[in-house]
Amino acid sequence: MSALVIDGLTVVFGAFRALDGLSLAVDPGEVRAVIGPNGAGKTTLLDAITGITRPKSGRIHLGDGLDLTKRSEAEIARAGVRRKFQKPSVFPALTVRENLSLGCGPGCPAATRSARLAAALSETGLEGRADVPAGALAHGEKQWLEIGMVLASEPRVILLDEPVAGLSDAETARTAEIIGTLRRPDRAILVIEHDMAFVEAVADRVTVLHEGRTLFEGGMAQARADARVIEVFLGR
Ligand code: ADP
Repeated sequence: MSALVIDGLTVVFGAFRALDGLSLAVDPGEVRAVIGPNGAGKTTLLDAITGITRPKSGRIHLGDGLDLTKRSEAEIARAGVRRKFQKPSVFPALTVRENLSLGCGPGCPAATRSARLAAALSETGLEGRADVPAGALAHGEKQWLEIGMVLASEPRVILLDEPVAGLSDAETARTAEIIGTLRRPDRAILVIEHDMAFVEAVADRVTVLHEGRTLFEGGMAQARADARVIEVFLGR
């Protein structure tokens, strides 16, 4: 059974089809990368999954059958679907610890909050930075903090929007390690990224989007050898 299922999803902007009957299923425990040229529909896909953009047709549901298609952004987040946007949106005046505590959400019991805080600090490797204001962190650390805030909500689906944009090689390698530790048998991770070496390091499979449709699905090594993928994307 898949953890996240996109079934025949079409999103239109006026007469333009940003997603055109897209189907995609992410397995539990899988890290899936969605790659493709600018304008392929990657951001639109994440916007549709998170309820920011309403599809014209098609369905989005979780592995247990929960239909997200007509839910609000808040309901989708409550169902355990969490997104890390490209630009870190941490609270600069709050410490790393305080930011991570927010990830547990309002009404979160104190014991749960502290357990999740400890787990998020350790999974992101930010233990030594717990009392530093988020505004004083390096760009890479801010990205990791935001991944930690997503984690503290115990998500079933994690959506990552260009997590290594603007990071150094060392920070990129560290981010790949962190994402590796986020894998769980009951969790699906979907990542949009332009850095192909990073994608190769983190993703089990890649979906190559082109003009709102799937051009290719499979391993990164096969994607690199696929004539259509080379023509529309990798060969450019
Ligand atoms: P990607 O993330 O793969 O670069 P996007 O999902 O951002 O692609 O965009 C897909 C296409 O949809 C692009 O041609 C873009 O111009 C168009 N698009 C995205 N959002 C809107 C919008 N709000 N209004 C009109 N066109 C849009």
